[in-house]
Amino acid sequence: MSKIYLYNTLTRQKEIFKPIKKGVVGLYTCGPTVYNFAHIGNLRTYLFEDFLKRTLEYNDYRVKHIMNVTDVGHLTGDMDMGEDKMEAGAKREGKTAWEIADFYEAAFKKDLAALNIASPSQYCRVTDNIPEQIALIAQLEKKGFTYKTSDGIYFDTSKIKNYNKLSHLPLATLKEGARVEKNPEKKNPTDFALWKFSSAGAKRQMEWKSPWGIGFPGWHIECSAISLKYLNKNLDIHCGGADHINIHHTNEIAQSEAATGKKFFNYWMHGAFLNIPGGKKMAKSADNFLTINNALTRKDLSPLVYRFAACQVHYRKPMEYSEAGLKQAQQGLQKLWEQAAALGAKIGKVDSDFKSKFLEAINNDLNLPKALAVLAAVFKSKLKLEDKLATILDFDKVLGLDLRAKRLEFQTINKVEEYPAAIAQKAGLRDEARRQKDWAQADKLRLEIEAAGYLVEDTGNGSTLKKK
Ligand code: AMP
Ligand code: ZN
Repeated sequence: MSKIYLYNTLTRQKEIFKPIKKGVVGLYTCGPTVYNFAHIGNLRTYLFEDFLKRTLEYNDYRVKHIMNVTDVGHLTGDMDMGEDKMEAGAKREGKTAWEIADFYEAAFKKDLAALNIASPSQYCRVTDNIPEQIALIAQLEKKGFTYKTSDGIYFDTSKIKNYNKLSHLPLATLKEGARVEKNPEKKNPTDFALWKFSSAGAKRQMEWKSPWGIGFPGWHIECSAISLKYLNKNLDIHCGGADHINIHHTNEIAQSEAATGKKFFNYWMHGAFLNIPGGKKMAKSADNFLTINNALTRKDLSPLVYRFAACQVHYRKPMEYSEAGLKQAQQGLQKLWEQAAALGAKIGKVDSDFKSKFLEAINNDLNLPKALAVLAAVFKSKLKLEDKLATILDFDKVLGLDLRAKRLEFQTINKVEEYPAAIAQKAGLRDEARRQKDWAQADKLRLEIEAAGYLVEDTGNGSTLKKK
């Protein structure tokens, strides 16, 4: 097995990755809060995690991947104040919190599929794991790490050593940050809610009985309870966006290690932000967010264009969104698909020299920009066409750019003559609709192709295009 180097936020350096159990990796990725659509900033983080998982699998590890789905308890303020995001979403849309969760969880899964992001081994809804969270809080209470205020049960951060071991921030700075939203009953500004009480007289849609009173879990406890339950023997890698370092992941570590007396995860990895021009982070709360639909699909761009764009920026470097950038990525990806189509039908052998260069790039803390350069070098090389094809299809296990399927699509439509890319794309979509037996969509696309002056003819194996 080759060595894999990963940057660990805990130690602020690249380390050689070593799993707890040979051949298996436990991977925990913080999932979505399902009160709204995911934006392409969130999805950048899920893409980074997908590249990580595929890299581990490419290195022959079996990956046990757990993702939580936050369907309760994530408050609109990060400091345990404000409204529950789910209940706020329900009010906004005139639905129940449960309906909101179902709808946006399904939308999230659709987004992941559109980006070729593999599903986790298991999704864990927070509301399906309430007893585990209550048990963990009870354990913390028994060990003397909690106290009660008028609105909930809190974790006392002054009771542990190294509260800042992940953030590396001076404790004074952490306290300063925490002071933005004041809660006068907290003993220390960095203390956080483990359990929140339902307000007297105001019945919540989502609430549970607990030893401390009716209420709902605080946001951080879910990820500790779920990861300890499902990855108990494989606490290898825990990931999220960089905004989770100072509060969410810091608090997860504090409460998990206090409860178990053992080290929580060995490797903590964080993806840098997707920013809008000017350097501001794309955020749901900032009204500057774009979904896959309005950034890509609606503009006739394949969602994979965004995946390709994400490969071009290292995951620890900020990425800037721009429409022009996506257009450029579209041209690059289209060219890649055309080049793959031009390699013919025969699949030969994976070239071992190029494979080791590719491995070296991805195993060096997921250097995908370099991996793309290796891919480009394969196309330019003197390898036999069939071996080039085998090699790029092998790389695509990690890149996930659909080279296998797209190459066939492009081969069918490039057989007869040259046509504008938009027509070729429509013919490809029509082939796909026919494969799915969506005859209405196939007919609609045929009419559009004919209106643009081309004829499409079906063969036993896809379709061909002709000028009228
Ligand atoms: P949320 O649904 O808000 O809990 O966020 C889901 C994931 O997206 C988390 O891992 C966040 O850290 C991450 N995230 C949020 N905003 C951005 C952004 N602009 N760029 C990259 N990742 C982000
Ligand atoms: Zn989390």
